[in-house]
This record gives sequence, C-alpha cells and structure tokens, in this order.
Amino acid sequence: MTIEREQHLRLLTAGAARGMRVVPFVNLSRQHEALWGDLDAAIASVFRRSAFIDGTELREFEDWFAEFCGVRYAVGVASGTDALEFALRALGVKPGDEVVTAANSFIATAAAITATGARPSFVDVSEDTGNVDPARLVDVMTARVKAVRAVVPVHLYGRPAPMAEIGAIARAGGAWVVEDAAQAHGALCGGRRVGSFGDAGCFSFYPTKNLGGAGDGGMVTTNDERVADAVRAWRNHGRTSGNHHVLLGRTGRLDNLQAAVLRVKAEFVEEWNARRREIAGWYRDRLPPAIRGFSDGPDVSVHHLFVVRVPDRVALRVHLQRKGVETAVHYPIALHLQPACRELGYKIGDFPVAERLAREVLSLPMDPFLSRADVNYVCDAIAEFYER
Ligand SMILES: *Cc1c(COP(=O)(O)O)cnc(C)c1O
Repeated sequence: MTIEREQHLRLLTAGAARGMRVVPFVNLSRQHEALWGDLDAAIASVFRRSAFIDGTELREFEDWFAEFCGVRYAVGVASGTDALEFALRALGVKPGDEVVTAANSFIATAAAITATGARPSFVDVSEDTGNVDPARLVDVMTARVKAVRAVVPVHLYGRPAPMAEIGAIARAGGAWVVEDAAQAHGALCGGRRVGSFGDAGCFSFYPTKNLGGAGDGGMVTTNDERVADAVRAWRNHGRTSGNHHVLLGRTGRLDNLQAAVLRVKAEFVEEWNARRREIAGWYRDRLPPAIRGFSDGPDVSVHHLFVVRVPDRVALRVHLQRKGVETAVHYPIALHLQPACRELGYKIGDFPVAERLAREVLSLPMDPFLSRADVNYVCDAIAEFYER
C-alpha cells in the first residue's frame, strides 16, 4: 500500500469511527479472510521444503495460467513490467527500434519499452472505449513504415482492446504484437482470452490486480516455444542450464511463495470477475444519466477498474471523500506529457483523446466484495453533487 493510500484510509477510518459509511477503493483484507486457511497451508508448504526458487509451485501455477489463457506456454516473472520487457526482448526488440503503445496507459508500459533500448511512440485511443483506436494505429504504422518493430495494445481497465483489427494492422506493417494484459486477467475478446492474441501476452500480479499476489509478480503467455525459452533465459541470468548463459540476463523470476499464493487465489478469479461485472451493472443502473462511462462492446470486460468521465473532477473527489468514498484517477497525465517522457519530443495536442480522458476520468470503488448498498451509496453521493 502506498503512503498516500494509507493516509487516505486513515481519513476513511476516522469517518467510520463517527458512524459514517465508508467505501474504500479496494479491500484486499476481505478477499483474504475467506482464503486464510488455504493461503496459510500453501505458504507453510513452501517453507517446510525451503525451496523458494524454480520449484513445483511455480510450474503448477504456470500450467494453470497457460490453460486459463488458452496458450501453450506461460512463464512466471517478477512483475508485469518485467513481463513486458522480457517479451519484447525475446521477440528481438533492440536499441533503435520503435514500439507503439497507447498514449493513456500506465507508465510501466512505456518504461518496459525503454528498458529494451527501443523508443516508445504513442497512438491515440478511441473516445468510447479508451483503448487503441485502430484508425489512428493505421496512421502511425503508415507514417513510420519499417521503423515500428512491435505494437503493445493495452487492455485498459480490464476491457479488451480490439485485437482482430490491431493484430491485422500490426502484422501488415511487419510488427510484433505484445499485449499488455496487466489489468485484464480472464477478459474475452471475440470469445477468446486476452493474452492469447499477440506474439506474447503480459500480465501483472500486483496485489490489487484482478489476480494479485502477496507482493510483485508477472507472467508472459505465448504459443511460441522460442519466445517462452527466451523469456525463461531473460528472467534467470540468461541461463539455459547449469552455468551455461546464452545472454546477459536479469534476476526476474516469479518465486515459489508468490506462485503458491497465486495458485490458491487463481481458483476464484472467474468468480471475482463475474462479481466485478455484476457490480459494474449496479453502477450503470444507478449513476445519474449525465455521467458517461465506457462501452464494453461485444467483448467481456473483467472491470479491473470502473471508470467514468466526469465534469468538475477535483470538486467531485473532495465531495466523495467527505462522504467516505475513496476514488482514484487512472491516469491524470497522458504518457506523452509525463516528465519522464519529455525526451521523446511530444507536445500538448498530439493525442487529443488521451489528453481529454486524462482530464475527465474518475475511477470509482471496484472490488469483488462491494455490496449493492455500497454501490448505491456511491451513486447517490455522486447524484447529490451534481444536483447542488
Ligand atoms: C500494473 C500494470 C503494469 C505493470 O505491472 P507491475 O507488476 O506493477 O510491474 C503494466 N501495465 C499496466 C497497464 C498495468 O496496469
């Protein structure tokens, strides 16, 4: 938990002490209470054998995850950011290459591209989905023929990006596709799991993700044995066996403790995702009609976040905080305008949709353990704000 969030939760706790209803943004404790016995046993079993790296827990969880995504290989790594970096490296992305991604993603997508030595370039998103706009992607690919080595669509907020279109455009331009599925474990695009469309798919098990560990973790999914082998080498000092190192790799493994915890929680991810969809439905039923959301289209979202677009966001957040409702913003600054990306040479106005979204998006509490009364309370508090 970040310090900022701890402070926020202290405020909420103070509200609760005064008898106020409090709706935290997420509540991991409730998720773990129900699983405590199983988690305890899984952790104890790793300690009993004191086998912490590259053991049966990792293998079992990788097998489960590959089957869950409908792919041949799943390779556990230390974080979602490592997953992206190793997948791009495994495909051969190198210094001087260009890799295109959505202008409204989390900073890690750009950081992973930069870590390979490649240059991130951005593409705008579509207004009603917040995901990569295929028409804009065509523009980028045409303008930068041959320079673009890979495209990294992001399944933002748990809602699948249009993979059929994006895949076709990328391949026509000779680029690989690496899905950033860090927010979308289990989401379906045209009936198929995300993470199974690209040359590789990348997941994060950061504790608050739809499937989250007790710390950091990540996974690369692929149907290509060479990509799987290369990611295995990258995560483990470039080792293929014993003291044989085929490249100067990294320490980027998913450890057995995390894998054991994740394997316990994995059994519930579908149930939790279904619950998230139900909660999204409650929000949509009750929010004032003036509040715009994003459409799911024909695909199956897993609602990692429930995001709406609101006027007067700062004042609304203050109002909600006073009411005991914790909110967040994903993300307040588009990637091309982040100080960290200054050297890429972009300017205000380059990606107007992403910039507009950065000003308007607001993430409401979303957690499989929210009650209908919690959701009604949040919606009523929002309605009250706009009626004033
Ligand atoms: C969480 C996240 C990541 C990074 O995952 P870590 O495990 O925190 O490194 C990358 N991309 C997106 C879209 C994310 O939400």
